[in-house]
Amino acid sequence: MSAAESQTFNAAVVEKFGQEVTVKEIDLPQPGPNQALVKVLTSGICHTDLHALEGDWPVKPEPPFVPGHEGVGEVVELGPGEHDVKVGDIVGNAWLWSACGTCEFCITGRETHCPDAEYGGYTQNGSFGEYMLVDTRYAARIPEGVDYLEAAPILCAGVTVYKALKQSEARPGQFMVISGIGGLGHIAVQYAVAMGLRVIAVDIATEKLDLASRLGAEYTVNAGDEDPGSAVQKYTEGGSHGVLVTAVHEAAFGQALDMARSGGTIVFNGLPPGEFPASVFDIVFRGLTIRGSLVGTRQDMTEALDFFARGLIKPTVTECSLDDVNDVFERMRNGQIDGRVAIRY
Ligand code: NAD
Ligand code: ZN
Ligand code: ZN
Repeated sequence: MSAAESQTFNAAVVEKFGQEVTVKEIDLPQPGPNQALVKVLTSGICHTDLHALEGDWPVKPEPPFVPGHEGVGEVVELGPGEHDVKVGDIVGNAWLWSACGTCEFCITGRETHCPDAEYGGYTQNGSFGEYMLVDTRYAARIPEGVDYLEAAPILCAGVTVYKALKQSEARPGQFMVISGIGGLGHIAVQYAVAMGLRVIAVDIATEKLDLASRLGAEYTVNAGDEDPGSAVQKYTEGGSHGVLVTAVHEAAFGQALDMARSGGTIVFNGLPPGEFPASVFDIVFRGLTIRGSLVGTRQDMTEALDFFARGLIKPTVTECSLDDVNDVFERMRNGQIDGRVAIRY
């Protein structure tokens, strides 16, 4: 039966923070102006979806909602008005689901900080369902000829770390620490290698460090076994020029300062709902820059997808079905996922 006939579809719904998602039928939405209805083919499962389920952050979604912001799918219906995508095009939703387009942030290349932005799978229903809406002005354009399961993680993990690496201002030949080799981190290793950076991978799980080595990391440090600050200072003879933290534990954020070189830049992507201690003296005396980085703009997305389409990035993806989402979240809580898990519909 087609969607139009059935008018409902299966989705994983967060009904209450801290509880399992419920896979159930929900009503098919109608695309409004600037919107398209998309039949979802694949969707990555990001740790942000788990934070959303747990209600971890000060800015919260409103249950019931459908998580998922790494969805790849086919446009099946367009809302009223003009669009620059057409029925049959393959597009993606993203965390930056839409923005106002006119505020100070939108018009100065910082649209991810638009105060009126909508977030995919958070303030707008996302890709943990057989259908989703996208804003056709903001939806990612998926390049031709790519594997849709592998493309999904680029839509959040990929664009986020790609942007963060640019924000680190590290230059080819310089050292880059990637702390946390999960969904984001294992892709960050690959973008960093493609950019000519010398990668040092830090995690607390041996399997993840092995994956980082296979992906081109020059050194690996198990932060559970040794002090990562001392180890990185030793390998780099004075600290890493850039440090990118994707880890989901506060400890990694304080350790980032110890791993940085004087004058270096530390970029935070990870979003554990906590705080970390930092020495003011250390930051001032060593001239460190600490910078938060939130996903990426539409232009960053185009560039990140281009690296992927040219074969420079190959996410490690395990396939699952919509019914497996609760199990995947449990494995994610326990740090048991290699790379990314993605739903195939
Ligand atoms: P993930 O669960 O796939 O990976 C997290 C990794 O952190 C795991 O490999 C784990 O072993 C590692 N880790 C845990 N404790 C550590 C420690 N003390 N030191 C080093 N590594 C440690 O999660 P993910 O999907 O990669 O997301 C990571 C974080 O990034 C989440 O908090 C997520 O919400 C956030 N995120 C931020 C943005 C952004 O725009 N800033 C975008 C996407 C995700
Ligand atoms: Zn994400
Ligand atoms: Zn705006």
